[in-house]
Amino acid sequence: ILEIRHLSKMFGKNPVLRDIDFSVSSGDVTCIIGASGSGKSTLLRCLNILETPTTGEILYHGEDIADGKVNAAQYRSRVGMVFQSFNLFNNMNVLDNCMIGQTKVLKKSKEEARKNAMYYLEKVGMAPYINAKPKQLSGGQKQRIAIARALAMEPELLLFDEPTSALDPQMVGEVLEVMRKLAGEGLTMIIVTHEMAFARDVSTRVVFMADGVICEDGTPKDIFENPQNPQTKEFLGRFM
Ligand code: ATP
Ligand code: MG
Repeated sequence: ILEIRHLSKMFGKNPVLRDIDFSVSSGDVTCIIGASGSGKSTLLRCLNILETPTTGEILYHGEDIADGKVNAAQYRSRVGMVFQSFNLFNNMNVLDNCMIGQTKVLKKSKEEARKNAMYYLEKVGMAPYINAKPKQLSGGQKQRIAIARALAMEPELLLFDEPTSALDPQMVGEVLEVMRKLAGEGLTMIIVTHEMAFARDVSTRVVFMADGVICEDGTPKDIFENPQNPQTKEFLGRFM
């Protein structure tokens, strides 16, 4: 689906991503792990056209999305993103949050968009809350709505940037449970997370980043049971 070649990103003189090579195939559940500041969010933001790479290519089915010519809204309907801070439209109710992208970007009829939104709200267990406004919901509920909203676009790939980091501990489980279910259904995902047990159990592939570089990339078994890179070992050691 995606092929990233020699991707680098500078913020001023600060190299935040350095020569990243990485590709995503259909059905991959990739967890990206690494210390704060290692460039995980910047990488995901590049993949969602929220940042422009300094050099390198991001090929989506062979087409470079980093060249500034791509329709970002259309692309984001194919490669969606779920944020740490939910980014719901706070002035809209739950159902409208899950319909607006479908009607505006995918040009679906309201009727069709509503039906589809209900299907995904059901899937995340939020169907009873369609008339609520985001401010009436808990963090875990808001994140499940954000996931339903992203799913309602029926993306080919879904990016998650620390989807549970802003949640109270008792709400982390309900969101991870939804994500676990999506992985089981074969949704292609890239998930930046500090939830090591989730990464170990749910991913098909784990990428460890440090200082803007992919240090190690392998199966969860490789990375968690037999890490090769000294920085990976050191990082994982902190969770043991
Ligand atoms: P965390 O685990 O804390 O979320 P991260 O791995 O997601 O960290 P990034 O947010 O990608 O890290 O940040 C990587 C580096 O880039 C940091 O040094 C950060 O200060 C810097 N950075 C990120 N965004 C910007 C920006 N818009 N302008 C300047 N520097 C930035
Ligand atoms: Mg981050």
